Amino acid sequence: MADQVLKTHNLCAHYGDFQALFDLDLSIAEGEVIAIIGANGAGKTTLMRSIAGLNSNNAEQIVYRDEPIGALRADQVATKGIALVPEGRQLFPSLSVEENLIIGGRVGRKGPWNLKALYQLFPILEERRNQPSTSLSGGQQQMVAIGRALMANPDLILFDEISLGLAPVIIKTIYDALPNIIDDGMSAVIVEQDISKALAVSARFYCLQEGRVALEGDSQTVEREAISRAYFGVH
Ligand code: ATP
Repeated sequence: MADQVLKTHNLCAHYGDFQALFDLDLSIAEGEVIAIIGANGAGKTTLMRSIAGLNSNNAEQIVYRDEPIGALRADQVATKGIALVPEGRQLFPSLSVEENLIIGGRVGRKGPWNLKALYQLFPILEERRNQPSTSLSGGQQQMVAIGRALMANPDLILFDEISLGLAPVIIKTIYDALPNIIDDGMSAVIVEQDISKALAVSARFYCLQEGRVALEGDSQTVEREAISRAYFGVH
C-alpha cells in the first residue's frame, strides 16, 4: 500500500456537550483523492475543520506523515502543508482578489503555485485581480478560495463543499481544473453533495452518518444501493 499522508485514529469532536464525531478512522495515501459524503449534519465540515486545526483535538487523533498534529493551531497545520478551501469561501471581504490570494502564500512553502500559475488556471481572476472579492460571483469567489489554498503550496488540500450552490457552468470549470490542481502527487479530500461527482473524482470514499463512518470503499466499484443505505441510515 502507498505511504499514508494523513491518518485519523479514534477522532472525536465536540461542540460543548454535543458530540459531532465519534471515533473516526480514515486514511489518505500519498497522491490519493478521497471523497467525504453524507447528509446534512453528518459531520463533514467538522472533520475538515478538525484536520485543518480549526477544532481542538487530541494530538494523536490526527497524524500527518507520522507526526501527531491534532493539537496544532490552524496556522501551524498550514505550515506543515495542509490547506483548507472552507465551506462558504470565507474570503477577506475588504481585500481585493489578488490580496486574498497573496495571503494564502504567506505560509511560505515552496512549490508550483504562485499568482502567475493561478491566473493561468482561472484567467477570470486575473481580469478581476484588483476588484474587491465581494464583487465577484459565488463561483468566482470559490475560485479565489481555491487559489488562496493553492498559494500555500500544500501537500494535502481539503475542499469543503466544493460545488455547493454554484452554477453548473462554474462547477464544470472547477472540476475541469481539478486534474491540474491535484497534480504531482498532491493529495485531496473532497466534500461533495453530489454523490455521482464525488465518486467520479475520487479513488475511495467515506460516507458519514451522525458523526460515524457508515460506509467506506472503492469509489469505482461501490454499489449505489449500499451508498443510499449508508447515506440515509436505512438498515
Ligand atoms: P452540512 O452539510 O449541513 O454542512 P456537515 O456534514 O458538514 O453538514 P457539520 O457541519 O460538521 O456537518 O455538523 C455536524 C453536527 O455538529 C451537526 O449536528 C451540527 O448541528 C453540529 N454543529 C456544527 N457546528 C456546530 C457549532 N458551532 N455548535 C454546535 N453544534 C454544531
